[in-house]
Amino acid sequence: MTDDTQASRQQKRRDKRIRNSRRQCHCCKQTFMFCWHCRCGFSICQNCMHENAWGMTCNGITWTCPDCGDQNGYGNQ
Ligand SMILES: [Zn+2]
Ligand SMILES: [Zn+2]
Repeated sequence: MTDDTQASRQQKRRDKRIRNSRRQCHCCKQTFMFCWHCRCGFSICQNCMHENAWGMTCNGITWTCPDCGDQNGYGNQ
């Protein structure tokens, strides 16, 4: 029941000077300190990865890029 306040606090608009250090999620279009990314340039945040995990990974060790179909590992960058 407390998820609403937590989510609104995370929506900070600071995308003017953080472009270099943050990545933009290709799913929700928000920027994050950390995103999983593919060599083709596709990035996905932890939220979207979690929500789409059923379609992105079948073993919890690697995830499949929806853009190029390449396999990327969880955790190790
Ligand atoms: Zn996202
Ligand atoms: Zn890719």
